[in-house]
Amino acid sequence: MPELPELEIIKSRLRLTLAGRRILGATLHHPAVLKTVDPPLEALTDSHISSVSRLGKFLSLNTDNKLHLCVHLMLNGRLITIPSNQPMTRHHLLALHLDNKTDLRVAESGSKRRVAVHLVTNPQKVERIAQLGLDPLGPQFTLNRFRSALKRRNRTVKRFLTDQRAVGGIGNCYSDEILFEARLSPFQKTGALKPEESIRLFMAVKKVLADAIIRFKSLDHLPDRRDRTFLKVHNRLEQPCPVCDTPVRRVSYKESTTYYCPGCQTGGRILADRRLSRLLK
Ligand SMILES: [Zn+2]
Repeated sequence: MPELPELEIIKSRLRLTLAGRRILGATLHHPAVLKTVDPPLEALTDSHISSVSRLGKFLSLNTDNKLHLCVHLMLNGRLITIPSNQPMTRHHLLALHLDNKTDLRVAESGSKRRVAVHLVTNPQKVERIAQLGLDPLGPQFTLNRFRSALKRRNRTVKRFLTDQRAVGGIGNCYSDEILFEARLSPFQKTGALKPEESIRLFMAVKKVLADAIIRFKSLDHLPDRRDRTFLKVHNRLEQPCPVCDTPVRRVSYKESTTYYCPGCQTGGRILADRRLSRLLK
């Protein structure tokens, strides 16, 4: 799933290619993808794309007639620009036909259709956007606000980082990297964080995301999971930690799998698989 760093790059590239383009029309090939009915998709016809923005893990194409096409790519979605005369495939869910003989297409690989598209007059009408918490790249991302968000509920730091209502844009991958950078156990409770630990966590959010964005900027293509070659713990089971050489471990927790370094993050302790222990009870 693309997270904040990938989405930032996709946003910037789309801005370059789409800003000012006129939308000639739209074709919806997979009706379930469009989650809204009013305004209808035809309302985009003859509008110009004025900007592209990112809201948490949503990308929003904004038009000069005050419409916002908000797209959540979920696990396997992509936004692609291709010549309009290229045939639609079963993976192409929605096409915007542009005035330069190209289409912007919302595509999704795999058989499941999870991508969500909302056409709204105000992005705040999309529930998951209205509920978004702090944006790590936004001006409101301050240590004070971050600490207030941490204190709002006592739960694991892993849950906190991936809860879009607390911090927007971070998922399973970068939360692992952030916790490694902050030298915190994924199961550490937010309520039990010492002041210096919450500062470390705050700084780690900024550093990990900024470093990933810088790496992706040098790519000549849009980043995907194959470009996450710089990760230190995520998806690196049994590989040596770049800091202390301890093999990276993983632990299953709720719906996700978390990677961590026992040497750097848990004082050498191996975390018990919570899914497994629940099943054995
Ligand atoms: Zn380590």
